[in-house]
Amino acid sequence: MDIQIIPIDESKKKAPPTDFAFGSNFSNHMFTHNYSVEKGWHDGKIEPYKMLTLDPATTVLHYSQEIFEGTKAYRRKDGKINLFRPWENAKRFNSSAARMSMPAVDVEDHVQAIVSLVEMDHDWVPSKEGATLYIRPTMIGTDPFLGVRASSTYLHYIITGPVGNYYEGGLAPVSVLISDDYRRAAPGPGGTGAAKTGGNYAASILADEAAKKAGYTQVLWLDGKTGVNIEEVGTMNIMFVYEGKKIVTPQLTGSILPGITRDSLLTLAPDLGYEVEETTLNVNDMLADVASGKITEAFGCGTAVVIAPVGNFGYQGKDVQVGSGGVGEVSRRLFDELTGIQFGRKEDKYGWIHTLDPK
Ligand SMILES: *Cc1c(COP(=O)(O)O)cnc(C)c1O
Repeated sequence: MDIQIIPIDESKKKAPPTDFAFGSNFSNHMFTHNYSVEKGWHDGKIEPYKMLTLDPATTVLHYSQEIFEGTKAYRRKDGKINLFRPWENAKRFNSSAARMSMPAVDVEDHVQAIVSLVEMDHDWVPSKEGATLYIRPTMIGTDPFLGVRASSTYLHYIITGPVGNYYEGGLAPVSVLISDDYRRAAPGPGGTGAAKTGGNYAASILADEAAKKAGYTQVLWLDGKTGVNIEEVGTMNIMFVYEGKKIVTPQLTGSILPGITRDSLLTLAPDLGYEVEETTLNVNDMLADVASGKITEAFGCGTAVVIAPVGNFGYQGKDVQVGSGGVGEVSRRLFDELTGIQFGRKEDKYGWIHTLDPK
């Protein structure tokens, strides 16, 4: 793909911040790419970060025809930059697009756009311990039309911004409310739970607020059909450690988002001597196994946090502590291994890393 480069004026150039909250600072440039039925994808561009101008009738603003991705660029000790499995994100973007009746973006073009954008703003990839450059590809339906149908025009864009180490003081446990009142996604494959689309998030916010009001930091989602099977936690996949040696996670049912962190941990763990299993996990069985001490650890996993250990679960007015309530040994080991590969401190046996050396 030809990408037209329009650099920002030197006078408008911002310097990267030195301390960063998640999702509130953005780098100098963005990638944009337009789609129409007649021309297909065209006008790939890297240009100064800018406001979007949209007609108030635009499809995405009314009917949420929108998808997104989340991946990161990691600063290595030698100054080079690692991307982690960017092709997997580009492929998942297209699976989400298919579910939302949106056009696919050529996977190679998408990775090329990410690479070019990160190279353009390479000085925004932080060197601070644990900090990264977060990369957010997005696609929206842009027809200025109130009829309910797939848009015929789309904007695909990518923005980036530095994000700090999620755990400034080291890994810390979260408290999780098991939601009995709200469901995240309708049963798959008919539902949208496996697609990374804004609508799923919009529907989850009320449950998240209810959990916070009740003193918890995250919601555990049960399946939409029976309300007894464990699906995800917050916007992460979830894993349980049995007796310190077996890692169990809900199998992908179509309503669970197929996380790249989840897949990476399932690949890594056997090489570290753990058994892994993808299965149906009943919430009452899980709570009984936590109470009896059979489950020694539980954690959420996703690109933003990598691993979020669960300290306790609340369900139907009762609380149960997981293991010691602190950060378990397996959680810590998996966190160290995966971030070690991502930052280039550990050998990548799996071909996950794509190294850039922008000057
Ligand atoms: C993005 C996401 C995840 C985690 O996926 P990763 O590829 O590991 O970042 C899990 N659940 C939901 C609902 C998500 O949107």
